[in-house]
Amino acid sequence: MTIRTAADVDVLVVGAGITGIYQLYRAREAGFSVQLLEAGSGVGGTWFWNRYPGAQFDSESYTYGYLFSKELFDEWEWQEHFAHQPDIERYLNHVVDRFDLRRHIRFDARVTSAAFDESSSTWTVVLGDGSRVRARYLVAATGVLSVPYFPDVPGREDFGGEQHHTGLWSVAPVDFAGKRVAVVGTGSSGVQIVPVIAGEVASLTVYQRSANWCTPLNNAPISPEEQAELRADFEALCETLNTSASGFLHLPHDRATSDDPVDARQAFFEKMWNSPGFTKLTSNYTDLLFDAAANAEWCEFIAEKIRSIVDDPDTAEQLTPKDHRYGEKRPPFVTGYYEAFNQPNVSLVDLRETPILRVTEAGIETADGVRELDMIVWATGFDFGTGALLRMGIRGRGGLALEDHWADGPTTFLGVQTTGFPNFFFPGGPHAAAGNNPRYNGYQVDFITDTLVEARDRGCDVIEVDPAAEERWTSMVDQWAEMPPSFGEKSYYFGTNIPGKPRRYLLNAGGRPKFLKEVDRVRRTDYQAFRLSRSVEPAPTPAPR
Ligand SMILES: Cc1cc2nc3c(=O)[nH]c(=O)nc-3n(C[C@H](O)[C@H](O)[C@H](O)COP(=O)(O)OP(=O)(O)OC[C@H]3O[C@@H](n4cnc5c(N)ncnc54)[C@H](O)[C@@H]3O)c2cc1C
Repeated sequence: MTIRTAADVDVLVVGAGITGIYQLYRAREAGFSVQLLEAGSGVGGTWFWNRYPGAQFDSESYTYGYLFSKELFDEWEWQEHFAHQPDIERYLNHVVDRFDLRRHIRFDARVTSAAFDESSSTWTVVLGDGSRVRARYLVAATGVLSVPYFPDVPGREDFGGEQHHTGLWSVAPVDFAGKRVAVVGTGSSGVQIVPVIAGEVASLTVYQRSANWCTPLNNAPISPEEQAELRADFEALCETLNTSASGFLHLPHDRATSDDPVDARQAFFEKMWNSPGFTKLTSNYTDLLFDAAANAEWCEFIAEKIRSIVDDPDTAEQLTPKDHRYGEKRPPFVTGYYEAFNQPNVSLVDLRETPILRVTEAGIETADGVRELDMIVWATGFDFGTGALLRMGIRGRGGLALEDHWADGPTTFLGVQTTGFPNFFFPGGPHAAAGNNPRYNGYQVDFITDTLVEARDRGCDVIEVDPAAEERWTSMVDQWAEMPPSFGEKSYYFGTNIPGKPRRYLLNAGGRPKFLKEVDRVRRTDYQAFRLSRSVEPAPTPAPR
C-alpha cells in the first residue's frame, strides 16, 4: 500500500551524518520517497565538521562503519584500527555514492523551522533560504554533538588573531607554522589536537578547566593479515557487536579487582594501558565502576603513568584529575598527549587556579596577565544531546514548541519520538546510548523504518507515541541514570557543561540491552506503544517548484 496523501516527500531526513545517511538508505529501501537536508556543504556530520588535526575515532574503524552490506564491508579497507577524520569522511562519501544516495541529499540546507499541520498530518519544513518542503514524516538525525559550544568569555570578538572551534573546523587548511597558539579545553578533542600541532607551532598554551583521565588509544595500521581476518570473520564480528552491551568488540573481564593479588593487578592494569581504546572501560575489572577503592587503584595507576611521562612534577600534578573517578566522564584516548608537555614550547594553564578573565585583542588574560597569541583553538565541546533539536524551531500539535515541551529536559519513547509531535522522529538524539554510536543509532533507524512500514501496511499515515509508553520509558531512563555505575555530575551527559541547561541525563544509561528489550516488546504487543491512525484530510498537492 502506498502513502495515501500528497506531500513533497514521504520521509524528510535532516542531517547527513552516519545516522541520517542510514535513515535515507533504509527508508528508500522500504519504498518511501525520501529527501535529506544537510546544513553543511558535505557528507559526514561529525566527520565533516570536526576536521581539526588529529581528529579520529575512539571506536575501532570496522566496528563503527556500516554492517548492513557485506559487500560494502569487504570492499572498503580501513587503513588504521582507529581511522582519522579524512578517511572517515571518505568512507561516508563512498557509502553515499555506492548506494546512489547523493541525488537525494540537499547540502547547505539548514532547517530553521518545522511545523506540524494537524489537518493534513504533514510537516512543513522551512530552510534558511526561505524554501519549504512538506513531508509526511520528519526524521531529525541532527546529532548529539553537532552544536559547538563557546564559553561565555568576555572579549572573544575582540581577539585580533585567528579563532577556530574544533567542532566547526575550516575546510580550508589552517596554518599553524610558527604561530603562538592557545588550545582552550582538554576534553576528547583538545587532547587529540595538542600533540599533533605541538611540533609545528612557535608556542602552545593549553588552558585546562578540569583534567581528564586520558589513556593511550594504542592505534596501529591494519596489516594485510588483519584485513583478511576481518573479512573472514565478518559474521562473528557482527554477532559480537550486535550482542555486546555497548557495541564494541571488547569482551567484559571475568574478575573483580579483589580476585587478584596486588602484583597481578598491576600487571593487569599494564595490560589495560597497552590495550586499544575503550577496552580500558569495557574490559577492565568488573568492579571498576562500582567499587570506589577499585576505581581509585586504577586512577592511581594512571596518575603514576602521568608522573612517569611528564618531566615537570607540577605539570604532572595539574594534569592529574582530582574531581572525578575514572568513567564518571567520557574518558578521552590519546596518542602522545602527556608527552607533548615535555616540549619546551608547550605549557599548561590550570584555569581552576587562574581563570580566564577576558580575551583581548592580543591574547588571553588570566589573573597572571595576558598571554599574547596568534590563534585560539576552542576545544570547548558541544551543547550535547538536545542542542540541535532545540534550535530547529520545531512546533508540534497546537503549535507546541519543542523547547517548551522539553523545558525540564527531554522526555522520549526509546529516544525516537515524543508526545505532541506526531510523525516526528529523532534517532541518535536524546536518550540514545553512550558507547559505539552507530551500533545503537542504527537500531533506532531500523526501528523507525519498521514502524513506518507497519503504519503503511495498516493504511495509516499518522504515528504518535502513546503518552503512557513515553512516561514509562522516560522514568526508566531517569532512574537508570542515577544507578551505579552512573556518569557523574561533571559529565556533559547531564548537560551541565552548558550554563542554564536543566540537569537531566541526556542518554540512555540502560544502553542497548534495555533498548532492544523494549523494541522487542513493542513488536510483541503489536505496536500498541504507538497510536497509528489515518490523517483526516489529504495534504494539498504541492505547487510546482
Ligand atoms: C570529535 C568527535 C569524535 C567522536 N568519536 C566517536 C567515536 O570514536 N565513536 C563513536 O561512537 N562516536 C564518536 N563521536 C560521536 C559522534 O557524534 C557519533 O558517532 C556520530 O557521528 C553521530 O552521527 P549522527 O549522524 O547521529 O550525527 P552527526 O554526525 O552529528 O550529524 C548530524 C548532522 O545534522 C546536521 N544538522 C543539525 N541541525 C541541522 C539543521 N537544523 N538543518 C540541517 N542540518 C542540520 C549537522 O550539520 C550534521 O551534519 C565523536 C564525536 C566527535 C565530535
